[in-house]
Amino acid sequence: MSDKVEKVIIVGSGPAGHTSAIYAGRALLEPIVYEGLMAGGVAAGGQLTTTTEVENYPGFPKGITGPELMMAMREQSINCGAKVITKTVDSVNLNTHPFTITVQSESLLTQTLIIATGATAKRLHVPGEKNLWQKGISACAVCDGGLPIFRDKHLFVVGGGDTACEEATFLAKFASKVTMLVRKGEMRASKIMQERVLDHPKINVLWQTVLEDVLGENSVNAVTVKNVQNNEKSTLDAGGLFYAIGHEPNTEFLNNQVALDETGYIVTTPGTTLTSIPGVFACGDVQDKKYRQAVSAAGSGCMAAMDAEHFLATL
Ligand code: FAD
Ligand code: NDP
Repeated sequence: MSDKVEKVIIVGSGPAGHTSAIYAGRALLEPIVYEGLMAGGVAAGGQLTTTTEVENYPGFPKGITGPELMMAMREQSINCGAKVITKTVDSVNLNTHPFTITVQSESLLTQTLIIATGATAKRLHVPGEKNLWQKGISACAVCDGGLPIFRDKHLFVVGGGDTACEEATFLAKFASKVTMLVRKGEMRASKIMQERVLDHPKINVLWQTVLEDVLGENSVNAVTVKNVQNNEKSTLDAGGLFYAIGHEPNTEFLNNQVALDETGYIVTTPGTTLTSIPGVFACGDVQDKKYRQAVSAAGSGCMAAMDAEHFLATL
């Protein structure tokens, strides 16, 4: 291990990580960003790399695609003085200061650590999923929905949030029909997203319905669903299945050294990015299960860099 002690290491490369890199870079803190190599199953650049148009990020009145936005943020980080490394951080030791960050067999020391590792799509783990994962089951319609195997098929989307609505609308371009399985009698999605699916001629919603199983040999040909009101089960022809049931925060590499809430999100002091360990800051979706937007992640990334700068000034 080199004796050099970095000022700021940022782990993660979504809007939170890159915004903290931009601010830390401009504060001449020479930040190092570990952008990850398919960490948590997500490409460098984070969740927005899995979507098409982003219409609600300020500054782009005509919208911008998620991958384009993230490429621009990465370029801006580098222009502001950040060093971006395409590796995944395996573990950290936060028990002694400076902290140790381990990436493959290499270890680095740092005065401050900014955790911006975001979140990863959840899966249901129904019996047929093991066999059919990525053979007709996906957690990213935007990445996989255009594949020939899904063309003109009856596709199912599990979930009732914004992602589920966005995915159903996207899939309806290719599918013969899209059915959403919503476990409650209402959706969590924003009103405008709900309206898009409820008004769409190719999308229907099975309310209070859960997925029991997915069937097929080498591709999906049916799903078994259960109405949770009357416990009635039915098997429906299907050509594909998409999960849109939320995300899991990427905190495993921390090995419980930072305080987490009961669902694994990092606990921060309200109004700040301070974690349970002085010098360790968290921003973006890894500490936010409420807002989970690109712009709020970016905002908290700015806060993390400023909090880190203040911490460094106290040393
Ligand atoms: P993420 O974007 O999750 O990025 C975290 C990155 O860190 C990932 O690349 C991951 O691989 C990496 N990482 C994880 N662990 C490690 C590690 N150990 N070492 C190194 N790297 C690591 N929000 C909007 O505002 N507008 C939208 O239109 C919109 N559309 C969306 C569409 C979809 C399909 C999804 C899933 C989300 C959408 N969101 C949207 C939400 C938005 O994408 C997130 O709120 C935002 O990306 C969170 O940013 P983040 O920086 O916290 O983390
Ligand atoms: P959410 O957590 O908001 O929604 C998850 C959905 O999946 C809910 O309907 C939930 O149901 C359902 N669900 C969870 N677990 C299960 C299960 N085991 N079985 C069946 N259903 C289940 O996640 P999203 O990914 O939709 O959204 C995450 C964030 O990203 C949000 O803040 C959202 O606003 C944002 N986003 C914004 C977009 C935009 O603005 N254009 C596009 C996409 C995402 P229940 O409600 O019953 O818990």
